[in-house]
Amino acid sequence: MQFVSTRGGTEPVGFQKAFASGLAPDGGLYVPKNLPLLPSDLLIDEALPYPALAWDILGLFDDDHDTDHLVEIVDKSYGDFSDSMSAPLTQLAENLFILELFHGPTLAFKDFGLQLVGNLFEDQIERTGETINVLGATSGDTGSAAVHGLAGQKGVNVFILYPKGRISDLQERQMTCTDAENIFPIPIEGTFDDAQAIVKELMGDLEAKEKLRLSAVNSINIVRVLAQAVYYVHAYMQLPPDRRDDVNFVVPTGNFGNIFAGWMVHQMGLPVDRFVVATNQNDILYRLFTTGKYEIEDVHPSRAPSMDIQVASNFERFLYYHNEKNADATLAQMAQFMSEGSIEIPNFNASNFSATHSSDEDIIENIKRVKEDYDYVVDPHTACGFQDIDPDVTTIVLATAHPAKFPKTIKKAIGEEVTDESLERLKKKKKKTFSVDANAAAVREFIEKHSA
Ligand SMILES: *Cc1c(COP(=O)(O)O)cnc(C)c1O
Repeated sequence: MQFVSTRGGTEPVGFQKAFASGLAPDGGLYVPKNLPLLPSDLLIDEALPYPALAWDILGLFDDDHDTDHLVEIVDKSYGDFSDSMSAPLTQLAENLFILELFHGPTLAFKDFGLQLVGNLFEDQIERTGETINVLGATSGDTGSAAVHGLAGQKGVNVFILYPKGRISDLQERQMTCTDAENIFPIPIEGTFDDAQAIVKELMGDLEAKEKLRLSAVNSINIVRVLAQAVYYVHAYMQLPPDRRDDVNFVVPTGNFGNIFAGWMVHQMGLPVDRFVVATNQNDILYRLFTTGKYEIEDVHPSRAPSMDIQVASNFERFLYYHNEKNADATLAQMAQFMSEGSIEIPNFNASNFSATHSSDEDIIENIKRVKEDYDYVVDPHTACGFQDIDPDVTTIVLATAHPAKFPKTIKKAIGEEVTDESLERLKKKKKKTFSVDANAAAVREFIEKHSA
């Protein structure tokens, strides 16, 4: 399979190249040149075990690894998820199901993409013989999932910057208590944007990037999207056969990566009636899907912090397909959006999406109501998915994180705490961090000293 840029300014590349580049050189995002159809037996036969399904779907896009090698990489990626189903579907009510995506090492759905990314980096290092240094900034979940995808791997050191004192204690522990020699968590004085600015400056400095052999753990890497497409099919196959018509998927959404993966696999033949974009109070996408206008606003920190975004970076992929793969039109719209901070998207209501938004009060209310009605505890992100659900249609809500990651909000909502064994173990460990001044020169020097 070839991958092309949404902005049309670069030559098509293969799977490994698209993976290694992250962002396309023209500033666009890679998308598959064609969306293949799912093999016809996949949706008829019995549900496959998760890794087998993942080989089948990833194999449609990856011509670079031979089958045995891909099978090995996939097995390594999902082998240590705590539930052997990897993404089990639980029924809460007659029409209501929840897809648990929090059985990976950091208890959030980002593990599905980043475990695979970690093993693909390892494969790349073996193939090229070149060690790499992975650099990223995080406001929480992405950083810890990336750290766990790469901890202990040979030939790669990981430098993760985060705003000191501004991420949760558990998130910090997931990055700093790994016992792995190749992980360098760096708390930075300042905000997430300050940390991000340092990463951008070093990544944008081609001399530094090459000399330090820097790679990114990008939220827009196409491999993460492909990996996430798998669990939509897995969810569908776990539905009782008489419930498979007119299915709604509700997706707690920030950067639009997760829901885009579902929409993509729907284009490949998965029968879905509607995708519901569930946002928190940072509702750029809610406004888009209800008015057709895509407009930047300030970010207001919420109880669902991993969805606190200003711009939904993966939305560009959807826009490209909405424009019927017209890269020139996509380039022009993105240029206008970046210069003016807003665009009107014509005919936007034609697609099978709807949207909801949840205030912080709604999040608390929803956690409480789900506990009362179904005796089930959802995390604050998943709680946004329980806003305005239509009880008459088969609905699958994606549970994007384990509630034990957000003890304060859960306590406030239901008056009790939810715990998880792996997090309890973390609380007993010592944090290991590295103190570096909050500027690009100091971070660069630190990486040079601790380079892989
Ligand atoms: C990242 C994240 C989201 C948002 O996912 P996107 O792919 O950015 O839309 C939702 N919930 C949790 C727990 C997350 O970590």
